[in-house]
Amino acid sequence: MQLSMNEATALKKSSLEKDLELCEKYGYDKIEIRTMDCLPEYLKTHTVDDLASYFKTHHVKPYAFNTLCFFNNRTAEEYQKVLDELRYMCEIGQRIGCDTIITVPTVELKKVTRAEIRKSCIKTLSEMADFAKPYGMRISLEFIGHPAASVNTFGEAYDIIREVNRDNLGITLDCFHFHGMGSRLEDLEKADGSKIFVVHLNDTEDFPIGSLLDEDRIWPGEGCINLDDILSTLKKIGFREDVVSLELFRPEYYEMDPEDVYRTGKEKSMAVINRIF
Ligand code: ZN
Repeated sequence: MQLSMNEATALKKSSLEKDLELCEKYGYDKIEIRTMDCLPEYLKTHTVDDLASYFKTHHVKPYAFNTLCFFNNRTAEEYQKVLDELRYMCEIGQRIGCDTIITVPTVELKKVTRAEIRKSCIKTLSEMADFAKPYGMRISLEFIGHPAASVNTFGEAYDIIREVNRDNLGITLDCFHFHGMGSRLEDLEKADGSKIFVVHLNDTEDFPIGSLLDEDRIWPGEGCINLDDILSTLKKIGFREDVVSLELFRPEYYEMDPEDVYRTGKEKSMAVINRIF
């Protein structure tokens, strides 16, 4: 099993340029590139071709773009912006060899029924997957384990992507989000492992379900999430990406030297991964 680093993990004191170097130094096979800050910052002093040639000449490879935000239940104008961003990610992805775009559902919709959410998700994800297809890009839906998120459990997200039924549409299973709203292992057990495109590895402090925030994330193996059960279920259902990605948003880790974040992240992640894979 390979390890990927999500740029959120050492966000404050690092940069895409530095993250690439640290991936090489500490043996991360892939990187998830943040499109809202790290990539535009990098492109102030580099070109897309620079990035493409870095990946061609180094071990680390791009895994996915984070994040195409809030695609469902938007106004026509807002949705057009999502599509514009999708087009941009498809174009850059093709050039640097990154074939996956992570998208997250809208947060804090006011009084929208579950039926309306589902209907909008099915329509927009069908369109987005069809748009991305000729570029060779995949769309990966990441449910968010918080009550304010419009799609917040694995079961709901899986049901939506199954209904849309496109080869290039799958799920991002973030272990923190899986735990965050009490997603059920039974739902994961029934899923087709080939539809899980991305796994975000992390753990959390043991706050009540529904109250967890990204900042509560801690090193894999140090919290209350039953990672062994999630990973062994993924193995059982035929998860075939051969990579998981470390994604944390902890303020204390932001204050650490990024070298230490990468070193510790690798040790903690591999200790958990090696128990199962
Ligand atoms: Zn995530």
